[in-house]
Amino acid sequence: MNLPNIKEARKRTDKKVEFLYDKYKIPDSVKDIGKGKKYLILTYGCQMNVHDSENISGIMKELKYTLTDDMEKADVIILNTCAIRENAHNKVMGILGRIKHLKEKNKDIITIIGGCMPQEESVSNTLKEKYKWVDIVLGTHNIYEIPKLLDNVMKEKKQDIEVYSVEGDVIEGLPVKRDSKYKAWVNIQYGCDKFCSYCIVPYTRGKQRSRKHEDILKEVESLRDNGYLEVTLLGQNVNAYGKDLEDNYTLAELLSDTAKTGIKRIRFVTSHPWDFTDEMIDVIAKYDNIMPYIHLPIQSGSDDILKKMNRKYNIKEYKTLFYKLKKKIPNVSITTDIIVGFPNESDEDFEKTIDIYNELKFDLAYTFIYSKREGTPAAKLKDDISLEVKEERLQRLNSIVNKYAKEANMKYLNKVVPDTIESL
Ligand code: SF4
Repeated sequence: MNLPNIKEARKRTDKKVEFLYDKYKIPDSVKDIGKGKKYLILTYGCQMNVHDSENISGIMKELKYTLTDDMEKADVIILNTCAIRENAHNKVMGILGRIKHLKEKNKDIITIIGGCMPQEESVSNTLKEKYKWVDIVLGTHNIYEIPKLLDNVMKEKKQDIEVYSVEGDVIEGLPVKRDSKYKAWVNIQYGCDKFCSYCIVPYTRGKQRSRKHEDILKEVESLRDNGYLEVTLLGQNVNAYGKDLEDNYTLAELLSDTAKTGIKRIRFVTSHPWDFTDEMIDVIAKYDNIMPYIHLPIQSGSDDILKKMNRKYNIKEYKTLFYKLKKKIPNVSITTDIIVGFPNESDEDFEKTIDIYNELKFDLAYTFIYSKREGTPAAKLKDDISLEVKEERLQRLNSIVNKYAKEANMKYLNKVVPDTIESL
């Protein structure tokens, strides 16, 4: 049993990351355990989790399980969880009640909880103390161990919690069962070292580890050869790609080399404004197969709040980057994320967010009320702003988000543009 520890997860060491190509193995004893059996997987949160679920499904497929979307028919129920907001946390805790009920009728059902939630000390402790019937608890760093953990739990018939606080190495060669035949997620890095004060990700996903560009390009070429039309290069802060590697290879070079593979469409998420270089902008502008779409979270229009968020840029710097992107990349579409109600956000701070939105007129924004995450620096801030005020601010912001989103969409009225449509 391994329980997570937030102090350990916060540490950053100089330990060199290894690239492991044969760490994932299926023990002979579980080779066919899924024959005639079904699994269900529920995924919460960001694209990283969506892609992790594709890897988990790849493993389940190799173990001969087939996918079901009916919980009543599942022999294995997997929850791939998210720790970013309380909402996602509550949904998972709610669904556990339903699974417990099913398990009371059929004790052979195996329940697996993975993803970011178990990386939180308090969650793993609660699962250990109060949810002993949950069979396997794993974190974001050891998806590759699922076959071994299933083997153990079937032999031992008791709860196994294996959540590592420290991230370890880059594991290559995991199987993947992709949700789409045409669009693919491709991880280019794991973890994050930015430590925005409200964010739990640097603790749940560990330090930044970039994949080798040779491995990424090989994956893109194989996707292209198998008929995929679009890849999205994925990471918590893709612009910092390569900073942890020794070869000085950057995201600009990766985008350029990915474009040269000839795959039809390339996207990348998510970009932190801090690491956006001029070389990247030039490469995006140069290649037609790199989509002119940039998701660039601003989070707030107030420099004071940005400082408290530890975002490492101010509004003037953000605007400079925004206008440079607009000028250099024809027809670029820019979307953003905004948090309202960060602790003690004043009326004046919020008005600055409204003002910057009215000035920059984003194509779309994902807006949220601040959600306190235990263990983060922002969780220690006292907050005097009522939920009612925060909700009013969110509504007001959303009305201007919708107004500019409609304007952005209307630009395409009566125009014919290429697109990829996939029937389900
Ligand atoms: S850049 Fe900031 S918000 Fe994004 S994952 Fe890293 S710490 Fe979290």
